[in-house]
Amino acid sequence: MIRGITCLLYDYEVHPLISEGKGLKIIDINSLSTLKTDSEKAKDITKGFILFDSDLRVSSIDDGARQILGLSNQAVIGRFLPNLLNKDALGILLNYINSVIQEDQFVQQDIKVSDHPVQWYNTTICPIYNNRYSILLVDNTQQKIMEESLVSNNEKLKVLYDSASKLTTMKNPKELLDSLFDRLSEVLDLDIYVNYIWDKDQDRLVLANHKGICNKKTEHMNFIEKGSAICGTVAQNMKKMVVENVENCSNPKVALIRSLGIKAYVCEPLISFGELVGTISFGSKKRTTFKSEELDLIHSICHQVTIVLDRMTKVEELTQNTETLEVANLHLMKNERKFRDIFEGAQVGILIIDNEGKIIELNPAAGYILGVHSDKLNGVKVTTFVSETNKVSLREHGAHLLKYGKAQDNEYIIIRPDESERIVSFSASKNIYYGHHLIIFHDLTLQKNIQNSLIIERNEAERVSKTKTNFLAMIGHELRTPLNSIIGYSQVLEEDKKDPLTEKQKNKLAKILSSSRHLLQLINNILELIRIDTKPETIKANVKTVRIKKAIWDCLQANKNNANDHGVTLHIEKDVEDVSIKIDPIRFQQVLVNLLNNAIKYNRKNGTVTLYWRVDGSYLAIFVKDTGIGIPVEHQENIFEPFYRINHPAYHIEGTGIGLTLVKQNVLEMKGTVGVSSIEGTGSTFWIKVPI
Ligand code: ADP
Repeated sequence: MIRGITCLLYDYEVHPLISEGKGLKIIDINSLSTLKTDSEKAKDITKGFILFDSDLRVSSIDDGARQILGLSNQAVIGRFLPNLLNKDALGILLNYINSVIQEDQFVQQDIKVSDHPVQWYNTTICPIYNNRYSILLVDNTQQKIMEESLVSNNEKLKVLYDSASKLTTMKNPKELLDSLFDRLSEVLDLDIYVNYIWDKDQDRLVLANHKGICNKKTEHMNFIEKGSAICGTVAQNMKKMVVENVENCSNPKVALIRSLGIKAYVCEPLISFGELVGTISFGSKKRTTFKSEELDLIHSICHQVTIVLDRMTKVEELTQNTETLEVANLHLMKNERKFRDIFEGAQVGILIIDNEGKIIELNPAAGYILGVHSDKLNGVKVTTFVSETNKVSLREHGAHLLKYGKAQDNEYIIIRPDESERIVSFSASKNIYYGHHLIIFHDLTLQKNIQNSLIIERNEAERVSKTKTNFLAMIGHELRTPLNSIIGYSQVLEEDKKDPLTEKQKNKLAKILSSSRHLLQLINNILELIRIDTKPETIKANVKTVRIKKAIWDCLQANKNNANDHGVTLHIEKDVEDVSIKIDPIRFQQVLVNLLNNAIKYNRKNGTVTLYWRVDGSYLAIFVKDTGIGIPVEHQENIFEPFYRINHPAYHIEGTGIGLTLVKQNVLEMKGTVGVSSIEGTGSTFWIKVPI
């Protein structure tokens, strides 16, 4: 590794010697391999031997000792021993030499004779004879380095072991990271850690946990974009980064960590199943560099953190999923109960059958319709309940259901075990679940029975009505002949000049004539009504081109006497346009006469009736306006119904309630429409609209 440059930034690939096994991983510390090489080197170990007297004057020295003390070419015999030793070793070695001289006992000790480079010697000082002493120096530097390394590795493995055992019990990421950091800072002299989580939605790092940084400073660190600062770069490249000698580093990306007073910094990506989960960084404010084995340790711990964080996320997801499932389950149970209630309480029969047509499930209504308790129907085939003829069509419908997925509104006669019959309509849906089909059936028996009796009743009513109509027609025709005779003879009497009637007799005869004519009108109306009602197709329209002004004038003339009798004046509005229309003149006259008749009859003394018309597109609208008693709104819709009369207690106006019915029927025959607008006490305007 390169050292000694003012600032170093390293990008690391994930360490290849670290196993990616499940659970916690064991660090393969680099230095162990180094130690192995060093131990091999130790085979050509350096040894040296020196003899000296109690005055510390050297009397003999071998080549090894010369080499160790760096005195290869110098004359050393008789020289003062302390002058030959370097200052690192001097103090401690002299202490041991003095103790051997004083106590006359040998001492064996490992002595670090130099810090740079590190150098250790196993030193044995022995009294020999006659105040002579020997020093045996054996270079055990490599062995000592190996020992120190083992102690340090041991310490790190302990950190790993401790953290591994703690990690498995932790539930909260903050607690986990804090405790790891505390343990790591003891060993690595760390001051801060920062943990970011990668937020996919925001597409940036979000600060999740940290220690050693005051909250005010973290305000600027809450989010880091990919590629910015050290953490963002680590997230982008998914490679760890080490920054040493931060103070002297000119890279702008270290500005943030420098502002925190950090001197050495390492940031690791947290990667789970190839995906970035976040970053974790450690920084020291005291030291400027990290050793490679320390970086290995941090890397290993980060890997563990990823696994544990991953586990926490998974546990959280599972907990959430479980909660969601529990809610969904509750919802399902409620729905199941709701549908079960509907199923049980439905008035229609519901069957679930399998592919062979066997009943798998049914509701109480189905059992009731089939005439068997629902408990006894499981496994029974639906065909059991239909007649032989129905069985064939039931199978056909079954085939249709399997082919098209639906079979609808098929009627069957169900034969119950007690041989009573029910008429039902079936609808079926295929495969409502796993090869199970749904049949819904309605019991139509009551409805069918009512329908049948209604048909019988209607036929009977039609028959009775026809008889009545025939009877009425017969009576009408029978009455018309004598009535015509009465009218005829009365007219003869009235006009008899030979035997003229007295005034009294004339008055009485006039009453007979008026009542007879009224009766004849009534019978004619009834016969007309029956004719239209029973055989409308027999009334052939005799359509002619009619000048409207003339046709209306004729009608007015026909009603003139009547109007005079009632003191009512008839008008045709001035300036109306004369138009030709194609119409059956008799039917048209019948309509107008009826409307005029009513306008006169329901008018007041000295009232008026005004006729006018307008061309409206391809229609001619004719209006008959009177100044009479008017029609209350609530009756206006009904007055065209047969025999509908408004009871006017104040007026006692005679009528049959047929006139407007005939008007409406005739207008409809002419492919037209009829209507009225009226104000009670002011007057009414009846209108008809017929095609020109
Ligand atoms: P009716 O023989 O009673 O006149 P219609 O069928 O001709 O029978 O009329 C039905 C009812 O409509 C009448 O009884 C009357 O109350 C009401 N009516 C018809 N025409 C008029 C009108 N011009 N003014 C007021 N009421 C009318």
